[in-house]
Amino acid sequence: MTGAGFGGLYALHKLRASGLAVRVLEAAPSVGGTWWANRYPGARVDIQSLEYSYSFSEPLQQQWRWSERYASQPELLRYANHVADRFELRRDIVLNTRVSAAHFDEAAACWRVRSDVGRSWRARFIVMAIGPLSTPNTPAFDGLDAFTGPVLHSAAWPHEPVDFGGRDVALVGTGSSGVQMIPLIAEQARTLTVFQRTAAYAVPARNGPLDPEREARIKADYAGFRARNRRMRAGFGSELSPHPLPTLAVTDAERQALFEERWQIGGFSLLGAFVDTLTDLRANEACAEFVRGKIRAIVRDPAVAARLCPTHPIGCKRLCVDTGYYDTYNRANVTLVDVSRAPIERIAPHGVVSGGREHRADLLVLATGFDAFTGPLTRIDLRGRGGLHIRDKWRGGPLNYLGLTVAGFPNLFNLVGPGSTSAFTSVITAIEHHIDWIAECIGWLAAHGRQTLEASADAEAQWVARVNQIAEQTVYPHCNSWYLGANIPGKPRIFMPLAGGFPAYAERCAAVARDGYAGFVTR
Ligand SMILES: Cc1cc2nc3c(=O)[nH]c(=O)nc-3n(C[C@H](O)[C@H](O)[C@H](O)COP(=O)(O)OP(=O)(O)OC[C@H]3O[C@@H](n4cnc5c(N)ncnc54)[C@H](O)[C@@H]3O)c2cc1C
Repeated sequence: MTGAGFGGLYALHKLRASGLAVRVLEAAPSVGGTWWANRYPGARVDIQSLEYSYSFSEPLQQQWRWSERYASQPELLRYANHVADRFELRRDIVLNTRVSAAHFDEAAACWRVRSDVGRSWRARFIVMAIGPLSTPNTPAFDGLDAFTGPVLHSAAWPHEPVDFGGRDVALVGTGSSGVQMIPLIAEQARTLTVFQRTAAYAVPARNGPLDPEREARIKADYAGFRARNRRMRAGFGSELSPHPLPTLAVTDAERQALFEERWQIGGFSLLGAFVDTLTDLRANEACAEFVRGKIRAIVRDPAVAARLCPTHPIGCKRLCVDTGYYDTYNRANVTLVDVSRAPIERIAPHGVVSGGREHRADLLVLATGFDAFTGPLTRIDLRGRGGLHIRDKWRGGPLNYLGLTVAGFPNLFNLVGPGSTSAFTSVITAIEHHIDWIAECIGWLAAHGRQTLEASADAEAQWVARVNQIAEQTVYPHCNSWYLGANIPGKPRIFMPLAGGFPAYAERCAAVARDGYAGFVTR
């Protein structure tokens, strides 16, 4: 198995408990995945921790205490380490070991795995728990190497504290990571210049200490709470119901009142106010305009506010959950540069050049995201039947069946990748679902005397068509997002995650299993 983030940790626990011999190979020197790598100021989860956490162990979910509504990166990393210790996972995890190659040996019906330090393993099954967002994207800016100060990527942040005091900081990128760190860097830096390509919708987190009464209420029936969440499209958020009517069927006053109520509650609750926000462009515009109104009210300079107002549908790119983001642009030491009009031309030794002007900087922060979903897999020399390379298989887009398997790559399971509801759910919910399904599938193969399971090309083609067809019924194709691969030059523009909702997806996976793994060839 590859990767020791939340996916790999639970996979190890579950598959070991199923009686399998499991070995986890992890490139980093620690468990924790996302929460080991992303240490930038303000890094925290954007789904409440009582929901973004494991449900598989009742004692774990009862005993673990989150200190805040939205846990910070250090607390999430402590949680991952606690899970590794509590379930005695470390003895089967090999750290500092990057999987560089995995080839399917057809004669022996097994995978031959190699690491970057020349070690090798043989495995009947491979679970790729390598993360949807684990391959940082660094744009190929001219002159980047000649920059004289430190260049820090949000996803490869130093482990020692970074002192921004007295510095002129340039920051590129206003997605979730940028939005989380900008207010904190602005408080310390002498100047902060933010380079924005696409304005972000950000909703207040309303973070704070976890309310003990709410915690007690949820923990009194945690299993019931989790079950209700699994019936939600996103796998979380069951405490609030959407309005029974579509957005435009209610009066303007009622609509604004509900938007305001959700704004005050904070987080993703705004997107769940009405059922049609992500499926009807006109309904979406009502919600989007509500947020633009907030931006205009918060940001004092109308020209800056206008630049901060997004024009794409809300939720089309991942909604950012912030603390003081828009207000930061009222500070005298913060400048917003709109690079959609004046793209970054090059990085100079002491600054960033855009629109023919050099903006001085002695520290450069890249909050430029990830080669999402496919990046971690295509960087491995991964070859299936007939030596077919995953890069060739996925040249036109990431073909898969149920998001979990790839035709021509027998006994290989991919977690929270393209074709599953992955990034549209609380990812830990998706991870638990995938791994439970995989464990059952491996058990079925053993019980039926089969050695291999492989998606059929037909099932795969139909699944990918279905993922695209569902996306067409939503607002998601109406902007350039990492869901589409649009942030990576040359990447095929294919909608990757499944937008059909977690309950329907889980039911489909269960039906496939009930039907004796319909759509798969087993031998
Ligand atoms: C800043 C940030 C905030 C996020 N916030 C949320 C959130 O609020 N809610 C949410 O649901 N999701 C969020 N996510 C998504 C997050 O990635 C998942 O929630 C979850 O942590 C994924 O767990 P994972 O185990 O699948 O992958 P990861 O945590 O990414 O772990 C993958 C592991 O695989 C290792 N690996 C990769 N390639 C190889 C290789 N070739 N060989 C060996 N090891 C390898 C990596 O080193 C890493 O440790 C966030 C992501 C980021 C980056």
